[in-house]
Amino acid sequence: MHTNPPSELGNAATFIAEIYGQDVFNMETMRGYLPRPVYKKLLATIRKDEKLDPDIANEVAQAMMTWALEKGASHYSHWFQPLNGSTAEKHDSFVDLDSEGNLKLKFSGKSLVQGEPDASSFPSGGLRATFEARGYTAWDPTSPAFIKRTTNGATLCIPTAFCSYKGQALDKKTPLLRSMSAVTKMAQRLLSCFGKGDNVHVGADLGAEQEYFLVDKMLYEQRPDLMMCGRTLFGNVPPKHQQMEDHYFGSIKDRVLEFMVDVDEALWKLGIPAKTRHNEVAPGQFEIAPIFESQNLAVDHNMLVMEVLRKTANKHNMVCLLHEKPFAGMNGSGKHNNWSLSAPGFGSLLNPGSNPQENAIFLTLLCATIKAVDEHADLLRASVAKIGNEHRLGAHEAPPAIISIFLGDMLDEVIEQIEKGSTKKTCTQKTMNIGVDTLPMLPLDTSDRNRTSPFAFTGNKFEFRSVGSSQTCAWPMTVLNTIVTETLDEICNILEPIKDDPEQFNSTLNQLLQDIIRNHKRILFSGDGYGEAWVKEAENRGLPNVPRTIDALAPLVSEKSIALFEKYGVVSPVELHARHDIQTEIFYKELNIEAETAVLMVETLYIPAVTEQLTQLTTALTQMNKAGITAGTQATIARANRVGELLDTLPVQVEALRNAMDKGDTFAIQQGMAELRVTVDTLESITDANLWPVPTYAELLFL
Ligand code: ADP
Ligand code: MG
Repeated sequence: MHTNPPSELGNAATFIAEIYGQDVFNMETMRGYLPRPVYKKLLATIRKDEKLDPDIANEVAQAMMTWALEKGASHYSHWFQPLNGSTAEKHDSFVDLDSEGNLKLKFSGKSLVQGEPDASSFPSGGLRATFEARGYTAWDPTSPAFIKRTTNGATLCIPTAFCSYKGQALDKKTPLLRSMSAVTKMAQRLLSCFGKGDNVHVGADLGAEQEYFLVDKMLYEQRPDLMMCGRTLFGNVPPKHQQMEDHYFGSIKDRVLEFMVDVDEALWKLGIPAKTRHNEVAPGQFEIAPIFESQNLAVDHNMLVMEVLRKTANKHNMVCLLHEKPFAGMNGSGKHNNWSLSAPGFGSLLNPGSNPQENAIFLTLLCATIKAVDEHADLLRASVAKIGNEHRLGAHEAPPAIISIFLGDMLDEVIEQIEKGSTKKTCTQKTMNIGVDTLPMLPLDTSDRNRTSPFAFTGNKFEFRSVGSSQTCAWPMTVLNTIVTETLDEICNILEPIKDDPEQFNSTLNQLLQDIIRNHKRILFSGDGYGEAWVKEAENRGLPNVPRTIDALAPLVSEKSIALFEKYGVVSPVELHARHDIQTEIFYKELNIEAETAVLMVETLYIPAVTEQLTQLTTALTQMNKAGITAGTQATIARANRVGELLDTLPVQVEALRNAMDKGDTFAIQQGMAELRVTVDTLESITDANLWPVPTYAELLFL
């Protein structure tokens, strides 16, 4: 049989093995660079949450520098995630001078462990007065250092937390780490109640699916709205977009696939386990999903995924749009956060287990999550509140602004049995009893999917789908971890005292789960989350539906939230207020940028183009008159009138928008922009295509 000649690319296995993690100072690399006792101490810090031994910092720093220099890095940087939702870095070179003024490369333990970026310009929500402007970065040894490359240089990036002088968190990582610690300790406690907790180290995991759009760079640069706001403020949906559903999972065009190949390579080099790549629902929309990891690492990696997507797109003369709603009238982009807790020997604790006891643990965690989501639906909604997501939630294939849980048919049935207390009834052809000793193995059915739910159980994890594509997952995960910590705490308080009495334990657990379901089943919904009917139904059930960002942010600082975050040591009241204030401020700033961009585009692009259209029409009419041609004059006059009327409308609407902006009236600003858009979009549909001053949706979307 004829075999293909070996590919020019060589063996993919060799290639992947060679590049995977090559730019990461991971455990394996560390072992090679560190003396054995130092390596072991560091390992304990990373694996067991032990305090870092300050004595080893110098040796680790030295090893890191040696490795980084070999990798071509001349600089190091503490890499952190300030409250504006991006990443930040300040570079220092390894260059130092000895007492005689000669060059000596140096990286001390002190420089590794702590940094003092002059970071007075980051938003701190009043946490750090500018006169004490310094914030401190502190090394996070649980996320490995990595090399960031440009074509002509490289930098060693050290993941760090960012705090104020008084130790208040000025970043997204610190509360995440605190919440991971809280929820994993509580899950461990739960396992102990079931006699399973000894020496078990529970982990909190996240798999973040990332959706994005790609547009051609040349076209992008002709759209001030895309450049300033990351989304189009004007533009008509083309006749064909996503109706045929032919893009989702469709064959990937070469130009895009070449980009994706480069993205995967860059991510693998950084030790990011990129797994899945495919077309998404809208034309020009795609998704990348790495394999899930410990949340802290997964969040850092997702920040890098976004950066790699942007940079790689640029190399391919494209722009990667991470905005939640770059194009009105079609699919927006989300970042599904797959959340679970895991323990060695169990795998995911949200996996229906292989024996009755594991199943009871699973059902308890499931019910704890249901209760948490119902009691703090407003907080989860707040965790995804941002202007971009406001356009996405509840519009075109995006989860609604109402938080609800989808469990799937199999679990719905189980839950119903528990609620009725008639646990002896048959369920999925098996006898049910929730008691620890008698619960049967639950069949796992992941084929059961409801794409319209904001919070769906998908086999061995919950998938929080409301998170926006441009958002960091850190805060939504912090909130989810914290609310589940609370319910687990309550459950453990009941189960712990009776854990050695199996009979009482079983009956109490049965009762407990039954009560939870009875009290919180309103949050369970398996119908169409996109439908109007659900909005009414949810209202009847008393579920919050908060479409607007500012309203959605408010519960962040409710007494209930403040008490919750304080109780579990995740965010202090001041830190929480700071987060609320910063998110609110970001909303106003982004809204203003959008409104100003809209005005600018109307005055400098659309009005001149439409005026030119009118000039051409009236010139044509004059010529027709001169030539004595009557045919066509009526149509031309009608068109000129139509264009003229809309042209007259524009300055009036601009004026109204300006007034709203002066007053700072967000509702009126959003209203004003929407009205302006209708006029411009109508004009787009009746103006000569070659007079239209910006690329259309059709041009942007079909790469
Ligand atoms: P979808 O069908 O929703 O597109 P994918 O398979 O593309 O799902 O992505 C699912 C994501 O969930 C991946 O990142 C995957 O690694 C992650 N995942 C799988 N199991 C778990 C788990 N137990 N905990 C957290 N994330 C998980
Ligand atoms: Mg998904």
